[in-house]
Amino acid sequence: MTRLVVVGSINMDLVTLAQRFPAPGETLLGERFLSVHGGKGGNQAVAAARLGAEVHLVGAVGDDNFAQPLRDALLEEGIHAEHVVHVENCSSGTASITVAGAENSIVVVPGANARLTPGHVARAREVITRADVVLVQMEIPLETVEATLRIGHQAQVPVILNPAPAQALPADWLKLARYITPNQHELATLLGADPAIDFRELMRRSPCPVVVTRGAEGAWFREEGAPVHQSGFKVEAADSTGAGDTFNAALAVYLQEGLPIAVRKACAAAALSVTRLGARGGMPRPAELDALLA
Ligand code: ADP
Repeated sequence: MTRLVVVGSINMDLVTLAQRFPAPGETLLGERFLSVHGGKGGNQAVAAARLGAEVHLVGAVGDDNFAQPLRDALLEEGIHAEHVVHVENCSSGTASITVAGAENSIVVVPGANARLTPGHVARAREVITRADVVLVQMEIPLETVEATLRIGHQAQVPVILNPAPAQALPADWLKLARYITPNQHELATLLGADPAIDFRELMRRSPCPVVVTRGAEGAWFREEGAPVHQSGFKVEAADSTGAGDTFNAALAVYLQEGLPIAVRKACAAAALSVTRLGARGGMPRPAELDALLA
């Protein structure tokens, strides 16, 4: 069983479905409302736990009404939440999403996610040292991402950095990651490069190995210096939210089987995730994954 530490964000997504977007100052009657648990850290932890990994999440919730349901949902998935801290006088992370037709508009308030410090990661040093792999994204303060990379590197535990949402990062941080997993747009932003440059050239320029996700087309990685393409799995797509999170989780869970196998399994798991609604709704269990890979 893979022992995985995820360091990242936990959010409550507040989704309103409406006929159209309200104009500034306007009040509008919506059609439906749902609250959905999200955040890249929480989502990746759930996807990995469903695949059978032992998952420890390092994250933060606030002291509001969302904090306990967010934590309970993680516990129900079998995730170890000893390092999910409760921050006082602070809201939990929220994403207020309005969906009108095929468009959406989103306001994210990081709340407690912005208060996850390098000190919190340092307190989880023991579980990180015992882990097979660490997974971190960028919805938390960058100094906390850096601390995760440094602690993993010192402990010789591979760290996968999912550089989303995209921001440019110093090259010496990137060298601390075992792999980075951007989509094409994120790769250009991360390296501070022109987005028009071919992604294979950007992969070559990266200071650490890259696995690039390309939506339905699958993913690319490098082996012995040459770019390798793993095709996407053909599925009936219903909702692509959470595809990247499922991909990263599966990559981490299967990394010990070698990169080509891990990327193939990650593409399969992510393809299954897009067949059902909601970021966490389609995250597969091993039996479902095995059936697609057979
Ligand atoms: P992000 O949402 O982070 O931009 P991608 O859209 O590249 O990430 O999706 C991540 C992975 O999910 C892809 O590499 C691919 O394996 C899988 N995936 C995404 N969309 C589809 C789809 N429509 N059909 C099959 N697989 C998909």
